[in-house]
Amino acid sequence: MFFSDIFGQQQLKTKLAASVNSGRIPHAQLYSGPEGSGTLALAIAYARYVACIGEKGEDACGACSSCRKFDKLSHPDLHFSFPVNTTRNVKDPVSDDFIQQWRAFVLENPYFRANAWYNHIGLENKQGLINKKEGEAIVRKLSLKSYESRYKFMIIWLPEKMHVSVSNMLLKLIEEPPPNTVFLLVSEHPEQLLRTISSRTQPVRLEALKAEELKQAIGKKFDLPAPELESLVRLSNGNLITVFETLEHAEENRQNLTRFIDVMRMCWKAEYFEVNDWVEEMSGLGREQLKSFFEYACRLLRENFMMNLKKPELVYQTAAEEDFASKFHKFINERNILDFYEEFNRASADIERNGYAKIILFDLCLRMMKLIRK
Ligand SMILES: [Zn+2]
Repeated sequence: MFFSDIFGQQQLKTKLAASVNSGRIPHAQLYSGPEGSGTLALAIAYARYVACIGEKGEDACGACSSCRKFDKLSHPDLHFSFPVNTTRNVKDPVSDDFIQQWRAFVLENPYFRANAWYNHIGLENKQGLINKKEGEAIVRKLSLKSYESRYKFMIIWLPEKMHVSVSNMLLKLIEEPPPNTVFLLVSEHPEQLLRTISSRTQPVRLEALKAEELKQAIGKKFDLPAPELESLVRLSNGNLITVFETLEHAEENRQNLTRFIDVMRMCWKAEYFEVNDWVEEMSGLGREQLKSFFEYACRLLRENFMMNLKKPELVYQTAAEEDFASKFHKFINERNILDFYEEFNRASADIERNGYAKIILFDLCLRMMKLIRK
């Protein structure tokens, strides 16, 4: 993560780089800003910039030994602390139990919500916390000398999730920081931090992205037609996380539509060999993706049934779905709609119970071959 990877925030980035170059590196900083503004990404880019030992201008060099370790977020003086909780495999958790997953997740896309992280590590419905054991780990890590860099960095993501005992440990550390330690607190709700902590930090405040900056950010990953781009930017309120989620959802919808069209065509033609190939491919998807496909299929069936009933005011489809439905809707009627639902719901429940995906999908197809001709 470089300064150049963070969208917008130009003034702030210039200011941060200038202050580093003039030797001002506040030992406790509080990064905050509207959701989707890039607080975590900026804190990491800042640490990289400070640690870079190559020739740096407005950004870190990208080639020195420090930068190469920052590429993988594995620099030995770069420490992370973030909310976690118990999972199926981890009973008494600290951040380090999840550090590999964390690095991969952040590198993939540093713009995300807390819930996305919690889902990623399998917290199910639990909230993440920074507990006392984690507080002790922070103290221990910072009592060590730095390995390679002049500074050691402790990036605490969501310090508002700290247990009060951790806040107290941190307060002591911020009051009497170990030498060459830089705390970078990255908060979504700075108002929830103890005043005694936030008042001792240097605030780094990000702004919501402007429309032009959002368009640039989107353009880096997706090629959207202009009207779609405009409406996405308008609806996202400067929040890049909303943008990415909307686009991922749209992409998933597109894939699910293709899968649905394929399987319905094969079932209608009773193409057993092709069905078999489709089943092979689908069984490679994860459990959540399969469930999302089943859910999608039920929605599409419902829309097609509504079209068949000539109730256009009840139909909600994208242009591509509508195009397909214009021919397909006549196959979905009062004789088969409920059975279709039942088949997809049963398949979803079987997948949920860790059934064997190939058998579940093949059975589903065999039954649909009959249903579609009803
Ligand atoms: Zn460098």
